[in-house]
Amino acid sequence: MSTDVRNVIIIGSGPAGYTAAVYTARANLSPLVFEGSVTAGGALMNTTDVENFPGFPEGIEGPALMDNMRQQAERFGAELVADDVVEVDLTGEIKIVRTATGEHRAHAVILAMGSGYRKLGIDGEDRLSGRGVSWCATCDGFFFRKQEIIVVGGGDSAVEEATFLTRFADKVTLVHRRDELRASKIMQERAFKNDKIEFAWNSAVKEIRGELSLEGVVLEDTVTGEERLVPATGLFIAIGHDPRSELLKGQVELDAEGYVLVQPGTTRTNVPGVFASGDLVDHTYRQAITAAGTGCSAALDAERYIADLE
Ligand code: FAD
Repeated sequence: MSTDVRNVIIIGSGPAGYTAAVYTARANLSPLVFEGSVTAGGALMNTTDVENFPGFPEGIEGPALMDNMRQQAERFGAELVADDVVEVDLTGEIKIVRTATGEHRAHAVILAMGSGYRKLGIDGEDRLSGRGVSWCATCDGFFFRKQEIIVVGGGDSAVEEATFLTRFADKVTLVHRRDELRASKIMQERAFKNDKIEFAWNSAVKEIRGELSLEGVVLEDTVTGEERLVPATGLFIAIGHDPRSELLKGQVELDAEGYVLVQPGTTRTNVPGVFASGDLVDHTYRQAITAAGTGCSAALDAERYIADLE
């Protein structure tokens, strides 16, 4: 067990965690960052071009962007450890963070574990991620000008994404397992009026086709079992997200969907000295730049908290 009490421990290594690391390191707080053992660098490690992160006029590959952030944090003295946090005890004045191999203590903790996009669980989904398969219309819609796209889901996000994608695509097919949508009436009406959107009711994606890039999907009728091939170059999966907040149950306040609740306009959780940022708190924007922004806010909130302890 490490008996030292650090100023701050950061859990997570996406844009939120690394940005918090850059800011706390430059404030001389010597942050210890747990990056995760498998996906250090976060969600953007699974994508190709990122064209909407400011500062890169030609765009940048996701892994390169994350490597830049990592190097920037290290340059100012952040200590980065590619390990998973397996348990936390955040309720006391000294926060305890455990990995499989040790226990670490800190005055403040910044939570930045992100959220996972729900997957269909079908062959080809991961292989063609960034090559036609996407979970984010705001991020990738622009790549699909004048193409045919499939959106899967029936809630507000799926309908919003389908409507948004008609700005670029020639045709969008919204695939839903049932014969009516869960989305709000107003979103539904907007989609029904949009003549670029077709609806594949009572349908589920059975197969994803394409070797190097997406070529189409096989839909199965959930009532008759009939199958049909729908050619498409884009498949947007909009069936929800799961915040990575398992560790935090009973520690900080979560909402009904498991997102960490923060006091409005801050990154403060209900536990003094514990701050949360990025997609772990964000139902709405879920972008690299917004995650980096709240990572910065969490670092500044933690700095002030630590200064007030002195
Ligand atoms: P994440 O990036 O999810 O990072 C969280 C990190 O925490 C992960 O590294 C994880 O390993 C780590 N972690 C979790 N639990 C633990 C633990 N117990 N211990 C230690 N570490 C832990 N956004 C854009 O702005 N532009 C795009 O072009 C774009 N494209 C995308 C493409 C894809 C395929 C995906 C999936 C997302 C894309 N996004 C894009 C969205 C963007 O990636 C996310 O909004 C952003 O990464 C969220 O940042 P975050 O720091 O909150 O979390």
